Amino acid sequence: MTAAVAIVCGLLGLAVGSFLNVVIYRVPRKESVVRPRSRCPGCGTRLADRDNIPVVSWVLLRGRCRTCGETISGRYPLVELGTSALFVAAALRFGLDWVLPAYLVFFASLVVITFIDLEHYIIPNRVLYPTLFVSVPLLVLAAAAQSEWGNLERAVIGAVVAWAFFLILHLISPRGMGFGDVRLSFLLGLFLGWLDLRHVFLGVFLGFLLGSIVGLVLMALRRRNRKQHIPFGPFLAAGAVIAVLAGSSLLSWYKPS
Ligand SMILES: [Zn+2]
Repeated sequence: MTAAVAIVCGLLGLAVGSFLNVVIYRVPRKESVVRPRSRCPGCGTRLADRDNIPVVSWVLLRGRCRTCGETISGRYPLVELGTSALFVAAALRFGLDWVLPAYLVFFASLVVITFIDLEHYIIPNRVLYPTLFVSVPLLVLAAAAQSEWGNLERAVIGAVVAWAFFLILHLISPRGMGFGDVRLSFLLGLFLGWLDLRHVFLGVFLGFLLGSIVGLVLMALRRRNRKQHIPFGPFLAAGAVIAVLAGSSLLSWYKPS
């Protein structure tokens, strides 16, 4: 049964990833994500349906536009495959559970936030607010369907605790911790808190750990100096994904005896 759910989620992830590519490209450029149809950024030709199939079209066209030959970024198939992999992982983690749709929305949103933050150094409200608008009702629905009101309560506490913690960091160092990260922490706290509060601490800790390691490596390679900004959103997102998928085993492994 779980295998069937995983397959369905994997295919859904490819289609959703295709839409996320549109969101990643258009939201920072203040364009509508609904219309017009996808165009080649090089020549403006509208994509035919056969050139709009996730991953397959990019491979068949060898990463080039059919009309003008302009290179199409490898980010497109990467986002589609990545979203698909995350959806499969979520399906294997939660199975056929009422809370699964909420976590699919959460993971999809983290993909968008990661790629927009990497390119533009922002975490747009136009991504965060719709995510909360969709996922909060899904969490309430899951709590109601399975009488998991305790999970919902922990989710709210996790969101507030994470948000307050990042707000303090932001007030101490506004340049080090942008307000977008503070808003993102609310979303992370919500979904990690649903699992339990230890997952919130683990996810945030992993985010800082990954950010520090990559920051130090980049500095050592002289790709960045101390003053240059490294977007923090992708690390928080990665920490949260690891905490959701592997948090329980990590937490049971780290048990002071
Ligand atoms: Zn073109």
